[in-house]
Amino acid sequence: MIIAMKPGVLRAEAEEFARKLEKQGVTVDFSEGATQTVLGLVGDTTAIDEEALQANHLVERVIRVQEPYKRANRMFHPNDTALELPGADGGKAKIGGGNFAVIAGPCSVESREQIVSVARAVKNEGASFLRGGAFKPRTSPYSFQGLGDEGLSLLLEAKKETGLPIVTELMEISQIEHFGNVDVIQVGARNMQNFSLLKELGRCGKPILLKRGMASTMTELLMAAEYIMAGGNDRVILCERGVRGFDTFTRNILDLGIVPVLKKKSHLPVIVDPSHATGVAWMVPAMSKAAVACGADGIIVEVHNDPEHALCDGEQSITPPDFAALMVSIRKYIALEGKTI
Ligand code: PEP
Ligand code: MN
Repeated sequence: MIIAMKPGVLRAEAEEFARKLEKQGVTVDFSEGATQTVLGLVGDTTAIDEEALQANHLVERVIRVQEPYKRANRMFHPNDTALELPGADGGKAKIGGGNFAVIAGPCSVESREQIVSVARAVKNEGASFLRGGAFKPRTSPYSFQGLGDEGLSLLLEAKKETGLPIVTELMEISQIEHFGNVDVIQVGARNMQNFSLLKELGRCGKPILLKRGMASTMTELLMAAEYIMAGGNDRVILCERGVRGFDTFTRNILDLGIVPVLKKKSHLPVIVDPSHATGVAWMVPAMSKAAVACGADGIIVEVHNDPEHALCDGEQSITPPDFAALMVSIRKYIALEGKTI
């Protein structure tokens, strides 16, 4: 349930009003706009008398939210959520709310030289975050599983060299204690509905990049975000990374249609992963442009210094020169969308 307070209602009045509501067993979230405060009620609202609320002199409008996701719902939070982290060169790495973020780096961290050289290259072209997997969810148990803790240390070295905040995947709860210095924790497609993991991440106080499961619906993705947010962590970034289809030419099918829908239904930033969505390096620039055009708040792109010898996802990795060209070509589209990078 959403309660839009009348314009001019003071924060103190709204808080007292919220306390009374909380006595009826619901939790109340505040969202303050330029002229109006909106209260979002989460929990069992069946006992709440809607007509009495509507008659209250502080209340402008009461709306029942039909969707199962509440905190992720744009009705609860009409303005875009924007995330901001300390970035390179004393600047800020921003995503959402008119800021377009480029997250770039290899699929997996392989060596100091590899991660530092890719980090330098992508930073020079304007990436604002460095990606790189230390713990890798591989289809085969015989494939490279990632460098683990050593990979995390190498990512931190690359961060020290470039100032880029790091994004890396956490596969299980027991790894959380190793992620203290990670800036953004990635939840991979295969873990999107690992509910105990999502609950734990709700308590971890770090931004979460949540990837869409390869056969998950829009509502399932938003409900996964809701799990994290219900635990008190509202810094969630949604990521479309392609879904399973019948055509095997591309690794997945990039469902760009979900981007405007997510932007309409939710206030959370939405990014696109053209690398995992296509599985084909030469398609990445075109799909990056398409991501900008359909309203995404950013992209996450795999970049490798030597794709042919990459230990993971070489076929879909672009080289640093390709990345430089991609950045040149998307900048004008980002400007056309009225966003800043
Ligand atoms: C990745 O980002 O390298 C990855 C494994 O992605 P996904 O979970 O989308 O497959
Ligand atoms: Mn990958």
